[in-house]
Amino acid sequence: MKLILLGPPGAGKGTQAKYLIEDYDIVQLSTGDILRAAIAKKTPLGLKAQEIMAKGDLVSDEIVNAIISERLDDEDCQNGFILDGFPRTIAQADALNAMLDEKNISLDAVIELKVDEDILVKRILNRAKESDQTRADDNEEVIRNRLKVYRELTEPLVEYYSAKGLIKSVDGTMGMEKVRQAIKSALQE
Ligand code: ADP
Repeated sequence: MKLILLGPPGAGKGTQAKYLIEDYDIVQLSTGDILRAAIAKKTPLGLKAQEIMAKGDLVSDEIVNAIISERLDDEDCQNGFILDGFPRTIAQADALNAMLDEKNISLDAVIELKVDEDILVKRILNRAKESDQTRADDNEEVIRNRLKVYRELTEPLVEYYSAKGLIKSVDGTMGMEKVRQAIKSALQE
């Protein structure tokens, strides 16, 4: 199963990705996690990404495209994968198309998790309070910017993948298990 998980910050992409890993025996490729790991290790990539991420802006397409292109060649991706947090712009989606063509891979579906903005802000602030790992981008001002970036740059991808007949939209406000089941049935259609 080769999937993209699309949805605003706080929609539950990480949670559902973990379920999909179990349910379909595939791996999660999260550009956010990969970038945060690079920051923690203070690699050249991490140093470049750090300030941009702290503001809630997007790191360059060039960087994330290269991360994903390399990762897709790894052995553990051959049975399938979930792209979480990538693509985030039309340019990234075009780059992904080109990579997939070149590597002879075709996507099965793009799952869109739909959640209203006011619920998202509450969820992210709660998550920040309850977690012991602080994320530099989990304060209200930055969250608002992440949501704006999502609306302006990422949401157009719903239309983009609808046109390709790949979109499966799921209500992300239900409980975690309910969402999991809804995704499974959407993928069976
Ligand atoms: P969120 O919960 O906001 O969706 P992520 O962990 O997916 O969080 O991403 C956190 C930050 O990492 C983003 O705000 C952005 O700065 C950077 N990032 C992650 N993926 C991408 C991408 N595909 N393109 C550009 N920047 C990215």
